[in-house]
Amino acid sequence: MTGTTQDDYTDRYARRVRGMTTSEIRALFAVASRPEVVSLAGGSPYIAALPLDAVGEMMGRLASELGTTSLQYGIGQGTIELRERICEVMSLSGIDASVGASPDDVVVTVGGQQGLDLVARLFLDPGDMVLAEGPTYVGALGVFQAAQAQVRHVAMDADGLVPAALEQAIVESGGRAKFLYTIPTYQNPAGVTLTDARRDEILDICGRHGLLVVEDDPYGMLSFAGEAPRPLRARRREGIIYVSTFSKTFAPGLRVGWVLAPHAVREKLVMASEANILCPSAFAQGAVTQYLSTMPWREQIKTYREVYRERRDALLDALRDLMPAGTTWTRPEGGLFVWATLPEGLDSKAMMPRAIAARVAYVPGTGFYADGTGGTNLRLNFSFPPPERIREGVRRLAGVMEQELAM
Ligand code: PMP
Repeated sequence: MTGTTQDDYTDRYARRVRGMTTSEIRALFAVASRPEVVSLAGGSPYIAALPLDAVGEMMGRLASELGTTSLQYGIGQGTIELRERICEVMSLSGIDASVGASPDDVVVTVGGQQGLDLVARLFLDPGDMVLAEGPTYVGALGVFQAAQAQVRHVAMDADGLVPAALEQAIVESGGRAKFLYTIPTYQNPAGVTLTDARRDEILDICGRHGLLVVEDDPYGMLSFAGEAPRPLRARRREGIIYVSTFSKTFAPGLRVGWVLAPHAVREKLVMASEANILCPSAFAQGAVTQYLSTMPWREQIKTYREVYRERRDALLDALRDLMPAGTTWTRPEGGLFVWATLPEGLDSKAMMPRAIAARVAYVPGTGFYADGTGGTNLRLNFSFPPPERIREGVRRLAGVMEQELAM
């Protein structure tokens, strides 16, 4: 060790990382992972619902029988076997050959997160603007911030993104907006879904203004009743980059996602990915390919849906029974999250240390906005804790809120 302090590096950082800071929330999350804390803060799938022994055997064979390829380098775009399987998965939601989806235009990524990062690398210069729902996915905000882009939030209501607000934002951006980043189905963090009619309207508006759409769809298959409205990409073949992942339908630990890009974009996307990671993990791709070809993956998605529906119900029931008057929340038809709005006068960030002391954790709403709003909101996750823990968590949270209101 040379005795160098962190400060000695400050002037050396690239401009794009100078704004990166660790938040106080991150420190609280370290405490939130203690077993006595009911965490409604995470976003983890309930992996214990997987047939882990069978997955383990499958992975053993992947090494012993297919090791010469599964432990080798691969090509930057991802294996053709997996890209074909991905097209089968997408066809279930209407993204198929009839709208031009082809394995040739799929790029396998390290989770959906790398897909978002590649899109930012391809399209964003410093100072560019991205339009996104308010609130939006915190990991996307991180990507856009690292690209030194500015995020302008567009209003959302119980039916998803508001078309008139989008049109206004496009006009006001004066041509600076590079794309709309949207999570139309079972949105993270808001838990709302863009209605069928609005999907066509949004596409119409973006089409008229020549605005590229980045559709992020990790949760579309996790519906609790019936099927989700068809993705935007199933309705239009041009002007949309579609990003998805196996993190929520299989397992996030494998870090396998994908981008379905317009044909003209795909080659640059592969080059950007090669510069970034050389190639996605051959072993992880092999595991997903084996899983999709030898295991009952559709049944597994049904299992996830059932587990999450029960937990969503437990959360909504507990909120109804226990929350102080003046609290409101969304009622998700799928996905992993409920978005709550606190009664007047409460601040979700300021309340967080007291919630942790009361052994319950959530994510304050401010993390999901680029502009510091969201102080009256919080995100609650229902996919990981079992129903009785969810109810206990809401009971503790309601207790903290009652105390704050009495102060
Ligand atoms: N997009 C959204 C909206 C998400 O919620 C997530 C994960 N929580 C991701 C992308 C990234 O997922 P992963 O990298 O695990 O595939």
